[in-house]
Amino acid sequence: MKRIHKLPLSIISQIAAGEVVERPASVVKELIENSIDAQAKHISLSIFQGGIDLIQLEDDGYGVDEEDVEAMFEHHATSKIKQIEDLFTLKSFGFRGEALSSIASVSKVTLWSKTANSTGFEAVLKSGKIVSMKSRPRSSAGTTIKVEGLFQEIPARKKFLKSVKTETHHVYRVFEDFAVAYPNISFQMTSNGVLHKSLTPTKPLIRVSQIWPPLAVESLIPIEFNGKDLQVLGFISHPHTSFSRLKYSKLYVQNRPVTSSLIHKAIIDGYDTMLEVRKFPSYILKVSLKSDCVDVNVHPRKLEVKFDDERLIYKTIRSTISQSLQKQYVESMTTTTPVTTQNFQTFKSDLESTTSNDSIRTNNFSARQTSVPTKVYPTSPNLSKEQKQLQHLVKEEKVQANQLSALPYSSIYQLLKMYIVVLYEDKVEVIDQHAAHEKILLEKLLNAHQLHVQKLISPITIEVQNEQKTLLFEHIKDIQGFEVRDFGSHTIIIETVPTFLQEKNKSFFQELIDTIISDQDSLYPQQFTSTFYKTVACKAAVKAGDVLHIDEMKKLIEDLHVFQKAYTCCHGRPTIKTFGQKELDILFSR
Ligand code: ADP
Ligand code: MG
Repeated sequence: MKRIHKLPLSIISQIAAGEVVERPASVVKELIENSIDAQAKHISLSIFQGGIDLIQLEDDGYGVDEEDVEAMFEHHATSKIKQIEDLFTLKSFGFRGEALSSIASVSKVTLWSKTANSTGFEAVLKSGKIVSMKSRPRSSAGTTIKVEGLFQEIPARKKFLKSVKTETHHVYRVFEDFAVAYPNISFQMTSNGVLHKSLTPTKPLIRVSQIWPPLAVESLIPIEFNGKDLQVLGFISHPHTSFSRLKYSKLYVQNRPVTSSLIHKAIIDGYDTMLEVRKFPSYILKVSLKSDCVDVNVHPRKLEVKFDDERLIYKTIRSTISQSLQKQYVESMTTTTPVTTQNFQTFKSDLESTTSNDSIRTNNFSARQTSVPTKVYPTSPNLSKEQKQLQHLVKEEKVQANQLSALPYSSIYQLLKMYIVVLYEDKVEVIDQHAAHEKILLEKLLNAHQLHVQKLISPITIEVQNEQKTLLFEHIKDIQGFEVRDFGSHTIIIETVPTFLQEKNKSFFQELIDTIISDQDSLYPQQFTSTFYKTVACKAAVKAGDVLHIDEMKKLIEDLHVFQKAYTCCHGRPTIKTFGQKELDILFSR
């Protein structure tokens, strides 16, 4: 018996549509992409019942010729590529010629359009077939597509749709993805006849601020990397502002909204321990590569891309993020106003006053220069070591004086011999004394220009095993802040130490050296330095259980505000928690 038969075209289309059209949001994505490809400057979207009942998208793009309508809804029919090589020089979103045919095969579609040289027409399609075509004048060029009753004829697909609320939410996401990527296009959206957003052309960050709440925008730091074949551009949040879910993140590759676990990991790793565990930053990142280094044709709904050289992408993004955070950190230390407390209005007006140089590059989205005045310490090569140290000392004093004036606390208490409680007029800060101090010391050790060293009046002699001595001397040259001298077979002499260790006695250093040398990690040259610093920081920091003098607490609070990286400890846990009005209101369910 003959069991194999060819499926009718209508069923083939419906099956194929399953790849492109998953839910109303996928229709919206395809329609917006087509409008952008048609060079629209104004895009207006309306949905009813999350787009399940109706999606209508109107644009002012170049329109469709009447004679193209049939082809427009055919499979694999496109005006965007002619040969396979075109895929590698692609400038448009579309290239498969699949979206409209797929959408039309699972819904009722009405199309109105007009080009510059025609008067306009209206076409109606049911189950992918044109059922009516008539003239319908329209004042200016553009296209309107109405999609009704998605999956109405295919209950098996319709039952996979989620609630109206969820589907609406998915549509919002898609709308926002494009609105953020194209701030020069005006976007409007209504849902069930109620206006959701009306966005006129503006600067990139202002567009973001129209979409995200102030909290997700106010501490954004610009980032930029300009390689020959790879550019990374965008904004990431200050480590101080993080979220318990990955809520505020937008990634674009070749200006396409996509997801990429590789890039997400690179971003998170770029924050290193500056981010609390299980916390996420907000970010908007645009990655642009030479077109033959990325394949945009790997996902049915084009939601993912494939990179030629994943390692390069990971390394570049991670280091761009970490360097930008580092730079921001130096800047915030040399300015009177900490960046994190920067007023959002100032931030916005500063953006508004930036000139057109924050447009263009990858479709008019470019990192602005930070609004914070840059006062990085100049490093003058002709100064002697002592002069430089003196210069740093004077500067650090200035920085600390500035920071002090920014810390108007009214009282300080120690709680349970573990926490420092700082009262301000409008907030309470609780600091984990050991974790915070440990990270502050680590930061001091890692930042040469913040590290003050002291030649000991009575150098300290330490006994070490012979083989341990070899190891120590091999790596000690990479260690900042310490000078150690060889003194015969079993002895070393510690002559210079960071100032914060000057009061420590022989047994402290003996224990320190023993711990470092016996730590397995320190056997690896690349681990030695970090093990050394971490051990010093941990041993020298005040412990939980230590009763602190008021001056010690004051110094710790000041240092913590200077070394903002110390807001998380060496293990990524928070070192400081702030309870302002917002947090207290939440605690008391107000
Ligand atoms: P693709 O975008 O991959 O070419 P689509 O099925 O999305 O495939 O669209 C088919 C064709 O219809 C496009 O190549 C384009 O020529 C035309 N088209 C679709 N939407 C619009 C629009 N809003 N304005 C102008 N032309 C459009
Ligand atoms: Mg398309």
